[in-house]
Amino acid sequence: MRRARRINRELTLLYPDAHTELNFTTPLELLVATILSAQCTDKRVNMVTPVVFARYLTAADYAAADRAELEKIIQSTGFFRAKSNSLIGLGQALCERFGGEVPGKLKDLVTLPGVGRKTANVVLGNAFGVPGITVDTHFGRLSRRFGWTVEEDPVKVESEVGGLFPKSEWTMLSHRLIWHGRRVCHARKPACGACGVGPLCPSYGLGPTDEATARKLVKPGPFS
Ligand code: SF4
Repeated sequence: MRRARRINRELTLLYPDAHTELNFTTPLELLVATILSAQCTDKRVNMVTPVVFARYLTAADYAAADRAELEKIIQSTGFFRAKSNSLIGLGQALCERFGGEVPGKLKDLVTLPGVGRKTANVVLGNAFGVPGITVDTHFGRLSRRFGWTVEEDPVKVESEVGGLFPKSEWTMLSHRLIWHGRRVCHARKPACGACGVGPLCPSYGLGPTDEATARKLVKPGPFS
């Protein structure tokens, strides 16, 4: 646990301004952006959302959306048919069950179309200020590399890693791990020799340890 907290402290110094790389101004916008971000880069989502947010202002607007028009607007984010279904279904569910507002509880959020636990935690942590751990592919991989868990199942990862840190750290911890995963600790060829937490990491050496080689692997971002 002490090493886990030291790694978190180090990541805080490395990424003092880590935040979600999706652009949004309201819980509904973040929910929509997060749904669009499935299998898509945040950068691409951020190119599309200004048009989406200008066209659909409320849950009722999504509920009443013309499917063909919506599909066309979001096409470049991939899986646009499934995502359109989710967004229209989301609008309908919000209007029918939540008075058109995005609910601020995990148990309610996960009942919405297209919203799994990961999306729900993103929205809770970033739009409602409720601490949440977002176990995406980066968070899971880094947690295992740091030796915080051996679990693959996101719900188990969430609960094990959550137990190592105070709740107040959960949202920012998620951002830091995701930032580090995107920039340095890649799935293939992590840049160990250029990694700020290398001295604390039990997986140091998984990628090149030569600094010059590792530096070339670092992706500086931004990813939005
Ligand atoms: S030392 Fe290597 S494996 Fe560990 S966090 Fe850094 S890049 Fe990832």
